[in-house]
Amino acid sequence: MKVSMLKKSHDRLEFEVEGLTPGLAGELRRIMLSEVPTMAIEWIDFHKNESVLWDEIIASRLGLIPMAFDQKLYEMKDACKCNGKGCARCQVVFALKKKGSCMVYSEDLKSSDKGVKPVYDKIPIVELMENQELEFEATAQLGMGKEHAKWQGAIVGFEVSGKNNDKYKFMVETACGLSAEDVVKKSIEVLNGKLDDFTNDVGRLK
Ligand SMILES: [Zn+2]
Repeated sequence: MKVSMLKKSHDRLEFEVEGLTPGLAGELRRIMLSEVPTMAIEWIDFHKNESVLWDEIIASRLGLIPMAFDQKLYEMKDACKCNGKGCARCQVVFALKKKGSCMVYSEDLKSSDKGVKPVYDKIPIVELMENQELEFEATAQLGMGKEHAKWQGAIVGFEVSGKNNDKYKFMVETACGLSAEDVVKKSIEVLNGKLDDFTNDVGRLK
């Protein structure tokens, strides 16, 4: 198998793999979409919401904000030592308190961990009119695209070429707080883990 890098930036990666099978290419794409853990807001405790938007609408907007985070510092909640209770290894809390008139943006979320924050500062959440107040605490955690699209790691496509149709050119654009390269690396790690499990299972067959 031969891999060549074609284009690389933080958000986008283009690379070509020679000698790949359609099954493996499809699996790699699927993992990038749905099995790379990313950080997103999962639930919100509203103390005050006097805006014109319902709690549920604000909650779904907050869920879609991509969050930058360090992969080495966070665990999936189910796999965490706290047994899913929630702790500093698997959860981040964002506090927000604003009074109108003003626009509430993603940058107004105050994080319990400086290393975890919205990728973009100016994502509008809701507009507050004169004296309207919005106050909540939001909890973010790692999740995967297969649970909900808000955790989708990337947008991924590939083209097939070559004499034997065995050249796959992948185009990956990050949709989360990780770089495109990190999404690809993590996907390969996940794929390798699956292949190891498979090899072990086969090893047990007699
Ligand atoms: Zn935990």
